[in-house]
Amino acid sequence: MQNYAQLTEELKARSIKPSLQRLLLLNYMHTCHTHPTVEQIYADLAAQGHALSKATVYNTLTLFVQKGLLRVVNLDRSEARYDVLACDHGHFVCECCGAIYDEPIDFDKLNLIFPEAGSVNQRDLFYRGVCKRCLSKE
Ligand SMILES: [Zn+2]
Ligand SMILES: [Zn+2]
Repeated sequence: MQNYAQLTEELKARSIKPSLQRLLLLNYMHTCHTHPTVEQIYADLAAQGHALSKATVYNTLTLFVQKGLLRVVNLDRSEARYDVLACDHGHFVCECCGAIYDEPIDFDKLNLIFPEAGSVNQRDLFYRGVCKRCLSKE
């Protein structure tokens, strides 16, 4: 768990007013690395005794995404998941358990710039497979 002074600075650096709810959510995202959905975040915080409404959770996450603190990971046929790693990276998705793993990628080396399509704001790369944890169960 990061201390709240640090989290407050992180919010201020992105010109976000550091309310208690925002600090709670940012702290949660820093400690949870499973790419949670709004539903999971809401349920986890409720279980920890924090009664944030689902709308508050959603609105705060959206604000964090707009300000570049979080990014949205969209997998086909599933709801949006949130990721605290705002920098570009790739994902490995386990087809057995649905876990999502982060992987640093040097996107510049791929040299994909899409000059015909427009300007790029976010780069994603998804690999699918079976994770080590699931493999060891087989
Ligand atoms: Zn797995
Ligand atoms: Zn990620």
